Amino acid sequence: MGEPDGLISEADGGTLFRGGFVCTADDAAGVHPTGSVLVVGDRIAAVGEVADVDAVAAGLPVPVRAVDATGMMVLPGFVNPHWHDMFAARVAFRGALRPPSDLGDEPGFFASGGNMAQVSMAFDSFADMIAGLTPEEALAVARYSLWTQLRSGVTTLGDTGSLNRPDALVEAARSLGIRLSVTTWAADAVCAPGESRYRRTRDTDRILGEIEELLRMPPDPLVRARPSALYSTNMSDELGRGLADLVSRYGTGFVTHVGALRNESDVVRAYYGTSPVRRLADLGLLSDRLMAVHTAFVDDDERKLLLDAGAHISHSPAKYGPTGESALSETKQISEFLASGLDVSLSTDGGPYPIGGMVEAMRAAWQMHNEMRADNTFVRPSKALDMATRTAARGLGWEEVGSLVVGHRADLVLVPTTGWRYLLNPRPLESFLTLGGSIDVHTVVVGGRVLVEGGRSTECDEAELEREYLSALRSFSGRHLHVPDDVLGRLFPAL
Ligand SMILES: [Zn+2]
Repeated sequence: MGEPDGLISEADGGTLFRGGFVCTADDAAGVHPTGSVLVVGDRIAAVGEVADVDAVAAGLPVPVRAVDATGMMVLPGFVNPHWHDMFAARVAFRGALRPPSDLGDEPGFFASGGNMAQVSMAFDSFADMIAGLTPEEALAVARYSLWTQLRSGVTTLGDTGSLNRPDALVEAARSLGIRLSVTTWAADAVCAPGESRYRRTRDTDRILGEIEELLRMPPDPLVRARPSALYSTNMSDELGRGLADLVSRYGTGFVTHVGALRNESDVVRAYYGTSPVRRLADLGLLSDRLMAVHTAFVDDDERKLLLDAGAHISHSPAKYGPTGESALSETKQISEFLASGLDVSLSTDGGPYPIGGMVEAMRAAWQMHNEMRADNTFVRPSKALDMATRTAARGLGWEEVGSLVVGHRADLVLVPTTGWRYLLNPRPLESFLTLGGSIDVHTVVVGGRVLVEGGRSTECDEAELEREYLSALRSFSGRHLHVPDDVLGRLFPAL
């Protein structure tokens, strides 16, 4: 509760979200069962009990519009720090051409500890797919893909390497109004089957130049950039050293998948001479600037390296089962990192379809960590929310989002909490994580702009977004992926 100094100008209108169940996700995980959030311009001007916030609003020198939040939970906008736009692959890559029945499915390449050669070759091949997208196709795919995140309550998104052009992701984020930390598809080597040393496949300097161009973008409240390496199986030593140099020169964070699969370490040792986390340390990439994604399969020394460095761990518990990964339960290492006090955030990861959103990740974290530890207090619903908002924002180095506190950017999510699912439960967040989902998100506000209301976009024509996506997907899948025309005709009868 309080009023910021020097933030309010006559030009800014105010919006008062009044009378909801406010979860602040601040340091104290505060709740205001009958609370309000006052927004002026793109910042939060007051948070607290209704009467206190009313008093601040009454004293403002600007007009204030009231939004009735009665019967709603008011949460910070979700921060998804590990995500990939893979929507260009929906037709070809384990996607729309699958049979309707799942009974014939074989384990995928992430299953059973990971088919590392296949993973490495596939990740390398995606660079050609990105190059094959026209700028128009890339933008249409990016806008639709980002929209599905915004619609699910994500207000800040951390790209971790997308099957799309970074310039298209940036333009899509600006046009939709969602915050984005953008990166590139940074992979320049493969662990090819039958060989004993990694093979360079891409021009490392070009990859480094592409990320540096993004790092030079003028500062913007919506868009930032951070260097990434897709995976240690696909990162040459030269690329790793170049990325470390960028991280230090630009003072940014760095993100990579590491320790994600059981079979990863042996393969990385064989092809690169040392294990994945040690490689990061040797290359100068292990520090408190590192966001290590998944990070379940590490040895004792690697665990100590990560703990000593104060690395950030992000994991995606709603995604592991559907891809056959065992990052949570096989080693329980991510729970151990959490118990040791490292920052551990939640994220969705990415796929060619909308996979579990941040609400589903919160549910999975609440249910699965507690099950593994036989302790219902290890990840409480409030902790799950923190991991999906405040902690995730810290991992992105985006300190002014992720909590409802005065002076932060006004990024909010409103969820209806009336009806049988919430009856006589004084803890609506618990009911939401038990029986709710991304689809229940009603209102999404980014920087004070209401972008979703009643589950619908306030600014875009959703039917047009979808049409443009399908049209881009059809042309790209035909021209670049050589999907036959009669197959495309069946998949896209309306186009
Ligand atoms: Zn990922």
